[in-house]
Amino acid sequence: MSAAANNNDNDRAVMAKVYFYYSSMNAGKSTNLLQSSYNYRERGMNTLVLAPEFDDRYGVGRVTSRIGLETPARTFSMQDDLFALARESLANDGLHCILIDEAQFLTRDQVFQLCRVSDELGVPVLAYGLRTDFRGEPFEGSKYLLAWADVLNEIKAICHCGRKATMVLRLDERGRAIREGSQVEIGGNDRYVSMCRRHFNEQFYADDKAADAPVKVSAG
Ligand SMILES: [Zn+2]
Repeated sequence: MSAAANNNDNDRAVMAKVYFYYSSMNAGKSTNLLQSSYNYRERGMNTLVLAPEFDDRYGVGRVTSRIGLETPARTFSMQDDLFALARESLANDGLHCILIDEAQFLTRDQVFQLCRVSDELGVPVLAYGLRTDFRGEPFEGSKYLLAWADVLNEIKAICHCGRKATMVLRLDERGRAIREGSQVEIGGNDRYVSMCRRHFNEQFYADDKAADAPVKVSAG
């Protein structure tokens, strides 16, 4: 058997990489994830789609994109060992790719585990997540994915001014920028908008009088 045809664990491990697709909000991360998963499955390969269990925007156990695509997902908690999960899935059904939605919520340990999935199991890891929170601070999962992933890909969103939107601003029910609070807000009425750094900074660091006005979020 030639080396090229020898599909043993070592060869698979050489090929597998960890990919981090990062962006601000509403850039199409979930759409991209669903397309990638579909591409594997269309070729008869098995994928494992993971989503954080506290992300209940669209119901437990689904990844849904804004343009209407969706797929079932296995939920995970911060305590789950994703290497063990992947190894079990590989042994039971075969596994050709792991895809993670909202990967910013991974812990440091879980990013480490996903790197082992690539290096030791030879399964590619495609992680999709926000780079920063509404304060401009890096999420833990994204911080370590940016540090350790083999391949970094930015999915671009656009600010109302036309520049690339790299930041995320949280707005209250009156459309004003929120400048403090917890990193994760589940089930509230707050909205998030993507902005370029300049416009994010203008809002986030506005003086108190300016900060009391609704934020401009669209062109015109
Ligand atoms: Zn802008």
